[in-house]
Amino acid sequence: MTPEADIPSARTAFLTKLDTARRHHETQPAPDTNPHTIRNALQWLVGLGCLTAPLDTRYGGLGLGTGPDAPLETLTTLRQIGRMNLSFGRWIEGHINVLRLVAQYGSPAQNQSLAHLVQKGALTGIWVTDSQTPVILHATETGLHLSGRKGFASAIHFVSHALITARTDSQTPDAPSLMLLVPVGDPSRIRPGPGSLSGMSLSDTGAYDFTNLPVPPEAIIGTANDYLRQPEFSAGAWRGSAVTLGGMDRILDLFRTELHQRKRDTNPHQQARIGHALIARETAALWVQRAALIAQTDTTPGDITALVNLARIAVEHTALDLITLVQRGLGLSAFLRTNPIETTLQDLATYLRQPAPDETLTEAAAWFTLRDPPAPTAYTRP
Ligand SMILES: Cc1cc2nc3c(=O)[nH]c(=O)nc-3n(C[C@H](O)[C@H](O)[C@H](O)COP(=O)(O)OP(=O)(O)OC[C@H]3O[C@@H](n4cnc5c(N)ncnc54)[C@H](O)[C@@H]3O)c2cc1C
Repeated sequence: MTPEADIPSARTAFLTKLDTARRHHETQPAPDTNPHTIRNALQWLVGLGCLTAPLDTRYGGLGLGTGPDAPLETLTTLRQIGRMNLSFGRWIEGHINVLRLVAQYGSPAQNQSLAHLVQKGALTGIWVTDSQTPVILHATETGLHLSGRKGFASAIHFVSHALITARTDSQTPDAPSLMLLVPVGDPSRIRPGPGSLSGMSLSDTGAYDFTNLPVPPEAIIGTANDYLRQPEFSAGAWRGSAVTLGGMDRILDLFRTELHQRKRDTNPHQQARIGHALIARETAALWVQRAALIAQTDTTPGDITALVNLARIAVEHTALDLITLVQRGLGLSAFLRTNPIETTLQDLATYLRQPAPDETLTEAAAWFTLRDPPAPTAYTRP
């Protein structure tokens, strides 16, 4: 356990190690989707401390993602990991989400036992997206058990415990929903998922069947509908945007390098594209920073939710602009499967598909129609 006074320097040391590892990773051949490769990648992230760094400092972590005092360090962590690989970013972003929700709504005993698992190397996943058969929690004379499937579940073969949502009544679509932290990893319950994605293939996303899985009452985290409580429910989206930003960093690097290697970087049209690509990345970075900072304040929850929602859409737009610029700038080369930028572009385009973007924008617009977003000076670093 790092003494409290040494936490800031331990965080700095962790970020330095991560930066070095990311630079090394970029010199290596792109990982394939072989399960062995994925397991090695995960072990590498475990070795770097990416799974324990988000734990609360009381449980031997660095509080990167769970503590209120390190939003920018958390941003850098997720950005670096997303820059290595967007699928790694998806895993760690989900893991942080689980640790946060358990910290916020779970009991001390639940937090303690989760921290113990993570210290032993466990990756957790947040699997909330239902398939056509939603997950239901049934209470019978013999105890609690689940039915149904989660349809999009990242790191399906590697997550040890998943935080899932389950409706408490199969007949009513808007019945109260509960969060449960349940052991997963039974290969016989893994299903192919909705289909093969054109990007994020390393994320190991599939479906998981919970039918007839008994669950003890201690698996329930918090109370009914805690998962949807604002601002946590929407504000957490900034962490996905931080991962996206890392993907944009990687694409921008590969784009400029390839133009330079092909001696096309001095052409004024390509220079204009480089300029616009830099503007897109920096715009995304400013929005993510604004969202990360406001998300850890106790300002009006509606302001937090709406501002993070705007940030999510702004980052999506800038990333889509970047994809267009790079595909136009590199031409067919950006579509060659042997070119690392092709995989990263596909991954980014896929990762950008987050839930309900229309509603995200219109709800933020409605909130800020008769009031301005808070000025950046209204929330600063603690
Ligand atoms: C690689 C990858 C890994 C993932 N891992 C996980 C995971 O581990 N756990 C997990 O829970 N989920 C996971 N997901 C799922 C993810 O969280 C989102 O649920 C999913 O990406 C939503 O995508 P969508 O574009 O289909 O969203 P939608 O919300 O279906 O949006 C598609 C379009 O429809 C519009 N729309 C939405 N609702 C309506 C409506 N009612 N009427 C009309 N239009 C509507 C939207 O605005 C948008 O324009 C993963 C997804 C990916 C791609």
